[in-house]
Amino acid sequence: MKEPFDRMREECGVFGIYNHADVSRLTYLGLHQLQHRGQESAGIVTSDTKRFYSHLGMGLVSDVFNQSVLDRLRGRHSIGHVRYGTAGMSLLVNAQPIVVATAWGPLALAHNGNLTNAQILRQRLEKEGSIFQTSADSETILHLIAKSDAKTFVAAMKDAFSQVEGAYSIGILTPKALYAVRDPWGVRPLHIGRLNGSFVLASETCAFEIIGGRLVREVNPGEIVCLDDQGIRSVEKLPSSGRAQCIFEFIYFSRPDSQIFGKSVYQVRRELGRQLAREAPVRADIVVAVPDSANCAAVGYSEQSGIPFEIGLIRSHYVGRTFIEPKQAIRDFGARMKYSVVPEAIRGKRVILVDDSIVRGTTSRKLIRMLRQAGAREIHIKISSPPIVGPCFYGIDTPRDKELIAFRLKTDRIKEYLRADSLTYLSLGGMLKATGLPPRDFCTACFTNMYPIPVPAHGTMK
Ligand code: AMP
Repeated sequence: MKEPFDRMREECGVFGIYNHADVSRLTYLGLHQLQHRGQESAGIVTSDTKRFYSHLGMGLVSDVFNQSVLDRLRGRHSIGHVRYGTAGMSLLVNAQPIVVATAWGPLALAHNGNLTNAQILRQRLEKEGSIFQTSADSETILHLIAKSDAKTFVAAMKDAFSQVEGAYSIGILTPKALYAVRDPWGVRPLHIGRLNGSFVLASETCAFEIIGGRLVREVNPGEIVCLDDQGIRSVEKLPSSGRAQCIFEFIYFSRPDSQIFGKSVYQVRRELGRQLAREAPVRADIVVAVPDSANCAAVGYSEQSGIPFEIGLIRSHYVGRTFIEPKQAIRDFGARMKYSVVPEAIRGKRVILVDDSIVRGTTSRKLIRMLRQAGAREIHIKISSPPIVGPCFYGIDTPRDKELIAFRLKTDRIKEYLRADSLTYLSLGGMLKATGLPPRDFCTACFTNMYPIPVPAHGTMK
């Protein structure tokens, strides 16, 4: 029986090093910095130029690896991966990097993104005799590379990537080289860095900082870059007809200490908050962020409005995926495990609560109830992005249409559902302006339902 593609769990982070004596430990540290991009599984594959060494496991980077495991990962080159997941379909078989033996030699692949035509390609490949080991879309790429009759490995990669559609930022390790590949739209970030005589690739630049590396440049949309003894070389270019960088990387997903798409996430988020204050002023006493993802936007809102920023909510970073619920039901238990209110900051105050996004409305509704219980006099919700009306097919874990509250309800009805005194979203134009980059360079499909890369059964073009 064919396994379904588990397309709802595709958020990921990629990290790799070419030529370092302490390759496994540095890769571990790099993945640790990218942990926010995926918590389901983690994996590292290393090469000593003759063979690969690999270790993959379910859970956080710090749970999957220890000293003795890292000691066993020999060589000077690596590729690593963290993968996002929710309960249910978490399978070790889908952990990455995926390792395969091909006529080109062994290959290890780590993918961030989501392919939109993987199912069609997989059906064709299976008819032709390919045997898939995983239910992940990423494996399709390896089959296409393995089957290519191109003369060189780079030509085989070009052949394979010319057939896949969708979002991919990928690292491929061969015994003697590390390749970085980014889809022609540049949907997900991918960067190349340097650490003395070593080369590094990472989804986000925050992963370079921890190992003492520095950013060299982005991988350009459609570019295949080779990191090997000859240095950093652009070896192929897939035709690209424009960028479609994921705006949600700025809104929520990437870390504020990273640079993506050539901009500081921190600065863009702060500007999103400033823009929100310009568009949606309201009389209030304090600005409170939903930590941590809305911190920068809330600081920007406070700065622009002149209303003081207050730490009114504390986020616990220690909520495991399984926690023990008390026998007697506690209202909003899940939210209370994650967030707690600082009553002294809130009591008697007119609160502006800034969050980066509303998906189902669960978080805001619960936080509003908790803030009211703590004595907030008014609560004005300010969202530093427009209403989310469509799912992501390019690698962010958003639910389907019907579960998105803004797909079902108009803003004033959402306000009623949340029991807020007011609710305002940032405008689409305001969000794009805050990036300081050309608006046409972004995918905004989750806010507009305009999908730049065709999606089966969705299909709208930008
Ligand atoms: P909800 O409670 O369903 O409305 O989700 C909104 C909250 O989840 C906000 O506080 C966001 O910071 C956060 N969020 C937004 N997108 C995602 C995502 N793809 N994965 C996990 N959390 C998210």
